[in-house]
Amino acid sequence: MKWSAFLIPTVKEVPADAEIPSHQLMIRSGMIRKLASGTYTYMPLGWRSLRKAMEIVRQEMDAHGGLEVSMPILQPMELWSQTGRDVAFEEIMCSFKDRHGRMNVLAPTAEEVVTSIAAGEVNSYKQLPINLYQIGSKFRDEFRPRFGVLRSREFLMKDAYSFHATLESLDETYRLMSKAYCRIFDRCGVDYVVVEADSGAMGGSGSQEFMVTCSAGEDVIVRTADGSYGANLEKAPVDLPDVDKELETKRIGVGAMEEVSTPNVGTIEDVCAFLKTKPAEMMKTLIYANADGAVVVAVVRGDHELNEFKLTPIAGLGELELADEATIVKVSGAKVGFAGPMGMAEKVNKVVIDHAVAAMVSGVTGANKSDAHVKNVVPGRDFALSGDKVVVADIRNAMEGDTYKGQALQFSRGIEVGHVFKLGTKYSAKLGAKFLDENGAEQVCIMGCYGIGVNRILAAAIEGGYDENGIVWPISIAPFEVLVTSVNQDDDAVAGAAEKIYEQLRAAGVDVLLDDRVMRGGVKFKDADLIGVPIRITVGKRGVDNGEVEIKLRRDDRDKSENVTIDKAADRARELVTMLYGELGRESRRID
Ligand code: ATP
Ligand code: MG
Repeated sequence: MKWSAFLIPTVKEVPADAEIPSHQLMIRSGMIRKLASGTYTYMPLGWRSLRKAMEIVRQEMDAHGGLEVSMPILQPMELWSQTGRDVAFEEIMCSFKDRHGRMNVLAPTAEEVVTSIAAGEVNSYKQLPINLYQIGSKFRDEFRPRFGVLRSREFLMKDAYSFHATLESLDETYRLMSKAYCRIFDRCGVDYVVVEADSGAMGGSGSQEFMVTCSAGEDVIVRTADGSYGANLEKAPVDLPDVDKELETKRIGVGAMEEVSTPNVGTIEDVCAFLKTKPAEMMKTLIYANADGAVVVAVVRGDHELNEFKLTPIAGLGELELADEATIVKVSGAKVGFAGPMGMAEKVNKVVIDHAVAAMVSGVTGANKSDAHVKNVVPGRDFALSGDKVVVADIRNAMEGDTYKGQALQFSRGIEVGHVFKLGTKYSAKLGAKFLDENGAEQVCIMGCYGIGVNRILAAAIEGGYDENGIVWPISIAPFEVLVTSVNQDDDAVAGAAEKIYEQLRAAGVDVLLDDRVMRGGVKFKDADLIGVPIRITVGKRGVDNGEVEIKLRRDDRDKSENVTIDKAADRARELVTMLYGELGRESRRID
């Protein structure tokens, strides 16, 4: 490809709405252009990279048992009603009524569609397992589209869905998909971590996310110092607190509960300031309710944050939401901000107390009376730690200073690029995806699903590879492998040498771009840095006069460049191409 015949609209200015490097650089290098909030055109350069990422995804899916299909983007809302997700996805779905009055949805994902296909086509265990995948556009009316293609309203997803007769078969495909994902991200040069993710709300039984660390990421990744365990914050467990050997003795020494007046002082900080106590000496009581009105009281230490993803399965009452004001007033007998655990077990459906609270000698908590708190509240004495409705469990977020399995926990921000998920029978049961087993008995298919955000691969690769001058692409998804820059295009000898090397590389199957624009060298070098092609051959007048050109890697400093003869340039570039691909062939990381 010749630059003069290509469209690479580079820009100097950093776009005002681009907060993170990948977004800024994709715009500045002319890879993408914004159409409207959360929608982007992939320009010729960007589309080349995206196609390469897609092709790697496709190759690995094919190599790991995936069968590519193409499902419609237009989906009938009726299908979504059958699984109840018309309600759950309502806000994020892009939907419209057609001329016949039927509601349609632009695919936000495709579990319903693929399960309806399996319901129609799978009859026997002999057809299982199958794993259907596609690479296609998805639409989500995200609350806050941002970071360019990282969180857009229209994006490209590789979505795969597997169907199984047995749990063992699901496990096998799940492992295979994890392995394929490691290879995909390795080959794309994206540095990732695999973390345990919450699967509660989706009703599955196993879920891992592939995360790229990035300071702008919206997820918090928690890892043990030795790197042996990683999880999303929603899921990350913490070690049990050390229980003071003298705990019982100390508790006996605590005086009776004492009510103190705290007029309009409801928040933890305010109470601490008012009573001159520390958050770690407070017990925070939160009241939740499910859709049927069952009430759950959760108690965490004042310096801890409740984790709803941990609480929900432990409470065992389905989806929970923070109770409304009326419920709080009814349950606690006080206005919002003054609830305490005392006497709650008798009044509500479940009381869940965090381990750290159960290990306190005593603490301060709401008095279940407006404008009042109580001091000297002793767990086990002033509120129950056991009983039919009471459980002590890990229901808080991990935080700085916590350990898991004795290892210090470390925190970083990340972006999810992929997700593997054991779905179970949630969709197959509702949509009738059944088969006859070996004994002729009807069974419901067991499912898994596996997603990758293909656009996010590009953005994540840039987040992991850029400098002050522009992008530094991994070769596998760079728009071109080699850039030949003719510095003095108006000089026939230079233009001729550049063209010759370009043709040799093309003939050898190398993906090469020739910068044949008649322009100042400085401008060309700036553009070259910006678009980040990994191998660069610079053909200039002085070198050509000596029969030489300069070769360097985009990631290296100028002083690492080498001079080679014009005749050897193409061969040397090919060696470098091989070397750079070789670097991406890391051993796939094992996942169990
Ligand atoms: P997130 O928590 O980031 O919103 P998600 O859990 O909603 O992601 P999934 O439903 O699992 O995402 O979708 C599969 C993959 O699609 C994700 O791993 C992610 O890489 C990608 N993806 C999801 N939403 C978007 C989006 N708005 N823009 C770009 N890619 C997305
Ligand atoms: Mg989402």
